[in-house]
Amino acid sequence: MARPVQYNVKNEGGKVITMADAPEGFQGEGFFTTKLSDVVGLARKNSLWPLPFATSCCGIEFMATMASHYDLARFGAERVGFSPRQCDLLMVMGTIAKKMAPVVKQVYLQMAEPRWVIAVGACASSGGIFDTYSVLQGIDQVVPVDVYVPGCPPRPEAIIDGFMKIQELVGKEDLRRRNGDRYKALLESYGIQ
Ligand code: SF4
Repeated sequence: MARPVQYNVKNEGGKVITMADAPEGFQGEGFFTTKLSDVVGLARKNSLWPLPFATSCCGIEFMATMASHYDLARFGAERVGFSPRQCDLLMVMGTIAKKMAPVVKQVYLQMAEPRWVIAVGACASSGGIFDTYSVLQGIDQVVPVDVYVPGCPPRPEAIIDGFMKIQELVGKEDLRRRNGDRYKALLESYGIQ
């Protein structure tokens, strides 16, 4: 006999799990209108595919962020990918040696637009405690960064907070931004065409 289908629409407290808020728009009987950029933003921000570039201890915090207790999947980001061409969120976690810097940049270049970057932790943001000849003093020396997460290491809550900041940016991003002069100038300042 076929088993009855059950839908997981309640969390542990018995509250009904709600859907993402609809964008602002105009609604009448049988129709709803809104801006295209808001709909695209809503879809993008709830389906980010992170590429974890983890080199040291901050990467362990990311593992905790992905695991069941913190569960980044709740934000639609459970599809962690290791092919840059399929990911749109580069998360750099850990100390980046200067030898590694060209690799970070290459991974960034292989990602298709639109793409976003989070520097997770003090090392990725500024070199952290490693103020030394061999360590890159922040990944923003080689790629543009959208959000910095402080901490050594940041707790999973801080990583989630950084992720939610990215979601905010992604949700509000103008569809024309990537073709704009300011964005082109930003990329040119990194030697990216
Ligand atoms: S910020 Fe601290 S915890 Fe993170 S990689 Fe650097 S030394 Fe390790």
